[in-house]
Amino acid sequence: MFGGIEAGGTKFVCVIGTGPAAIVATKRIEVGDPAETIGAARNFFLEALAEGMQLDAIGIGSFGPLELRHGHPRYGCITTTPKAGWSGTDMVGPFASGLGVPIEFDTDVNAAALAEGRWGAARGLRSFIYLTLGTGVGGGAVVDGRLVHGLGHPEMGHIAVERRADDVFAGVCPFHGDCFEGMASGTAVAARFGRRAEALEGADRDAAISIIAFYLAVGVRSLVYALSPERIVVGGGLSAMPGSPPRPAPNWSSSSLGTQVCPNTASRCSSSPRRSATWQGRWAR
Ligand SMILES: [Zn+2]
Repeated sequence: MFGGIEAGGTKFVCVIGTGPAAIVATKRIEVGDPAETIGAARNFFLEALAEGMQLDAIGIGSFGPLELRHGHPRYGCITTTPKAGWSGTDMVGPFASGLGVPIEFDTDVNAAALAEGRWGAARGLRSFIYLTLGTGVGGGAVVDGRLVHGLGHPEMGHIAVERRADDVFAGVCPFHGDCFEGMASGTAVAARFGRRAEALEGADRDAAISIIAFYLAVGVRSLVYALSPERIVVGGGLSAMPGSPPRPAPNWSSSSLGTQVCPNTASRCSSSPRRSATWQGRWAR
């Protein structure tokens, strides 16, 4: 039995189980200050252990950026995040002490990439990317069966993107302005249209999908050239917008490169299998 934490900017989701179809306990925690939020997550596992549950390990997939170098004095910490109060937060220490269970720690997108490889849309592949289009944009890459870390971890959301000719939007990335995330994240969509993506309708929604699709195509093109993945699996809230799911713009041609782009399935299979299947049908066309 394993424990898992999806540590997001607005909620932590804690689970115990052996896979998406075999979850025996779950708890959703709204994010407050670090001590309160992490304390609530730790208590969830402490209570499970006290009830006699056997945990082999706990995996934490967290929003970042993160210090992932084992042996580094700040290993397990969130480094410099725009999220107020969370820079420098130790995400591993509170779980490593007192639970008596091995802890593994990585970015949320790397954890999602592993899940897609094990249970989802990247099963059986050796090289693939999981890309999330949500509040932010991020990606995790598996190359030759192993997650790519490098010095820290890739920041695929911050790659430079070619601007659409008619697009005068400045971008919202606090570091770069008009990078991939700055132009095509949920935050960017909200700034462009004055409303969250989920609330858009009609022409605004079509315009938003067109913009996201354009930058998705441009971003995906760079990732394909850099890493040559067999498949890019796209998840995140924007990929779940009502109407046609964002997919690479028509100018994206995968045929010459061979990389497939498809929606994620692992993180959806427990919540909405029917929708996931529908999307697979659409994207397959
Ligand atoms: Zn950026």
